[in-house]
Amino acid sequence: MAAGRAASMASRLLGRGRGQVIGGRVMLKLDPRLLEQLSAGMDVTAVSATNGKSTTTRMIAEALRTRGPVAHNLTGANMAPGVATALADHRKAPYAALEIDEAHLPAVAKATGAARLVLINLSRDQLDRGSEVKMLAERWRQMAAQLPSQTEVFANADDPMVVWAAQAAPNITWVGCGQWWTEDSALCPECGAALRRDQAGWSCPRCGLARPPAEWFVAPDAAHIVTPAGAVPIRLALPGRFNVGNAAIAAAAVQAAGVAPELAVKAFERISDVDGRYVRACVDGHETRLLLGKNPASWTEMMELVAPSEALLVTVLNARGADGRDPSWIWDVPFERLAPRRCWVAGERRFDLAVRLDTAGLDIAGVSLDPFDAAGVAAEGQGLDVVANYTAFQELRARLVP
Ligand SMILES: [Zn+2]
Repeated sequence: MAAGRAASMASRLLGRGRGQVIGGRVMLKLDPRLLEQLSAGMDVTAVSATNGKSTTTRMIAEALRTRGPVAHNLTGANMAPGVATALADHRKAPYAALEIDEAHLPAVAKATGAARLVLINLSRDQLDRGSEVKMLAERWRQMAAQLPSQTEVFANADDPMVVWAAQAAPNITWVGCGQWWTEDSALCPECGAALRRDQAGWSCPRCGLARPPAEWFVAPDAAHIVTPAGAVPIRLALPGRFNVGNAAIAAAAVQAAGVAPELAVKAFERISDVDGRYVRACVDGHETRLLLGKNPASWTEMMELVAPSEALLVTVLNARGADGRDPSWIWDVPFERLAPRRCWVAGERRFDLAVRLDTAGLDIAGVSLDPFDAAGVAAEGQGLDVVANYTAFQELRARLVP
């Protein structure tokens, strides 16, 4: 652990990053069974999803903190090394709230002996480096079938991929979190027939796989979470209906750890940003909101926030390793919904994005590497809504939140 800490510190001093990953790598190299040892005696809640895992994990951590110290991989270092660093930094904590990469969930959940698994959604993301959605669901399904009966699974009833994967688990609580992107679950994961979707949810006309009844869900007004014991009012500082869905599943999970839903919701309401997501700052006199849109599903969620906004829309695209080097996913985002909105286009792959947005009918005010150049064309007093994908977002967060 001392070697890991030294590596983390060296990374920070050299300005290479926040050091959580390199420190964890060093520790796991020296002791491959470190996760088992560090998590022994800890009550671990593991959260995974394509989108929303950082926010949901943060909610769970804040709620658990009402009961005691929590080990939490706050900065999104969500593979084994980041988890090792988070556990090593909080060795005495009785609780751990861990965000875990979708592909690494089975191994990390097993190594940490997670008491609870929170499974929210699966959709296309970084297809050049990750797995296809069905392959991830397959891996989760194998994991679920092997879980001991004391492991509690909290799973989103609205995502057919998640339901198909989780239903093999012996101990499941279904939560209605919603699903805003259905393109990766148009077909039944069991038999391949086209799924039917209606008010009641989704179902397969051929094999009968269907949305299970949810014990916890978001009320139609999005201002309450319905729990098995009744409705709890909720007013998050975080925007979006999708975050109320994240809160519903977080509340269900922490109740199993002994935090009452009313108390959990109070803890969730105190969160105003999640490692830079939704943060507000001032850029050249323009109030700027930073949003993460890193794949078709997360961009679709952001549309709920940017569509009604009066701010100038600033879109930012990179295609580095951590983003996925193939930016063709932008053609899957339904940008047509935002036409004929005026927007600024930025980032290393701005020309790819500009072609996409032009085709969708948006009015392109300008194109530049630096998204904050948009301030030059914004009206006086007009805000900026900056939607950036992963590495672009990280850079902007570092500039806005020193
Ligand atoms: Zn079917």
